[in-house]
Amino acid sequence: MKNDRGDIKVLVIDDEDGIREGSERILSRMGCDVYGASRGEEGLEILSSRKPHIVLLDLKMPGMDGMEVMRRIHEIDPNILVIIITGFATVETAIEAMKQGAYDFIPKPFEPDPLRIVVNRAKERILLRQETEKLERARRRTLADLGMEKSRIRTIIESLPNGLVVTNTEGQVVLTNPTFCQLIGLEPGACTGGPFTDYITDEGLCKLVQDISRGRYVDFEDIPTYEFVLSEDKYFQVKGRPVLGERMECLGAVISFQDISAMKVLDRLKTEFVAKVSHELRSPLSTIHEQLAMVMKAMTEEEPDTDQHLISRAKEKTQGLISTIGDLLDLSRIETGNICVETREFRMEELLNSVVDFLDAQAKAKKQSLTLQLPEAPLPTFTADPLALESIVGNLITNAINYTQEGGEITVKVDQVGDNVRIAVQDNGFGIEAKYLGKIFDRFYRVKNEKTRFLTGTGLGLPIVKGLVDSLGGSISVESEPGKGSTFTVLIPVQR
Ligand code: ADP
Repeated sequence: MKNDRGDIKVLVIDDEDGIREGSERILSRMGCDVYGASRGEEGLEILSSRKPHIVLLDLKMPGMDGMEVMRRIHEIDPNILVIIITGFATVETAIEAMKQGAYDFIPKPFEPDPLRIVVNRAKERILLRQETEKLERARRRTLADLGMEKSRIRTIIESLPNGLVVTNTEGQVVLTNPTFCQLIGLEPGACTGGPFTDYITDEGLCKLVQDISRGRYVDFEDIPTYEFVLSEDKYFQVKGRPVLGERMECLGAVISFQDISAMKVLDRLKTEFVAKVSHELRSPLSTIHEQLAMVMKAMTEEEPDTDQHLISRAKEKTQGLISTIGDLLDLSRIETGNICVETREFRMEELLNSVVDFLDAQAKAKKQSLTLQLPEAPLPTFTADPLALESIVGNLITNAINYTQEGGEITVKVDQVGDNVRIAVQDNGFGIEAKYLGKIFDRFYRVKNEKTRFLTGTGLGLPIVKGLVDSLGGSISVESEPGKGSTFTVLIPVQR
């Protein structure tokens, strides 16, 4: 409604030149932009182009009558204030004009002052309306901004990967996110407020939350990070901060929960692994150490036979250590995916023949038979890393030879099952008790019994086999019966 300079625009429609010009003069002096028209039709035209705020309108004019002009004005813009000026001022006409929507009424002829008073009042009304509209626009904008801000914050809170709890100064839960509910094992939406102790029973954590909520920590740096265990395998790192008001008063706390269970498991595995490796390396090393001490002693006493025997035992031990370390390195390379995989096409029959040929000498040394049973129909050309396959089959056959008595029988059977090649290494050796079957693929795990006591090994062969089978997208299983023998079966996809 306001023009660029902020002035009020007034249109005077009157056929009496004197009245029109007089009004124009007075109004211009009041700082209004004034336009004049001597006919209703002309007035409506100016109205469309100039968009005045106020119209001074004569009721009796030739052509279109004042009431009709007012009706049309309000059709164009109902906010325009129409002040009626007429020489036939009667109470009835005034009432009628007001009924039709006129803002005010001045009888003709009029003095400058009544005109100024009426126009000023109209002006104030217009300015007031403009101010109200401005405030309303600002209020709507603020509400929209607030709504957007609220929805943005809610989305952020809901999509956080950490659990989040907001408390009031009493330590009562006033807000939670779905991650928190999920972490503590409740349905999303099941956390509906109430004391923090309803959700978490850990006393230390409850006290910390209470302290932060009540504003006991002046310096945030003093707030400790709390680690708590929800169940045997659920660990959390909890951090809290007070929520401060405008006058820095404490309004409650924001508590965030990070699930560190996976990190804890890794940490434990790492510790266990280091302990195992240290153990595996320490016992042969101490034996070697003792043997060398004895050799030194024997040397001083000049007993050459003792030397020879002890030195060869020490050499065996160092050989064992070298294989353990070699296997460990292979395993770590397989597990980190750092193996140099050279995928190429090869014929499975040829590969198995060469592995079996190579290990036949070892089997013969124990008077065992080692047989390869190939299917009648040729197997499809295989695409994979042949070295990985050699290592898998080689390890399984070596185990079969090691854990089978002299004169035993070992058979390697191959056939095709769907898109996979199935290789089964079967022996009629010592077999494995059912309770150990789930453990033999663990690193360093070796079954210790009367039969295996004197056999050396690293306990890393099967974990290596499993790692390689996994890297080829295959699977491995074992069936065994103590005293009867074992069958290790590997399924490997022909194409990967
Ligand atoms: P290693 O042979 O170096 O001890 P492995 O990881 O290859 O280590 O095997 C783990 C354990 O599984 C062996 O110590 C042995 O007790 C058992 N095992 C593996 N293969 C056989 C088999 N064919 N027959 C009986 N026991 C076996």
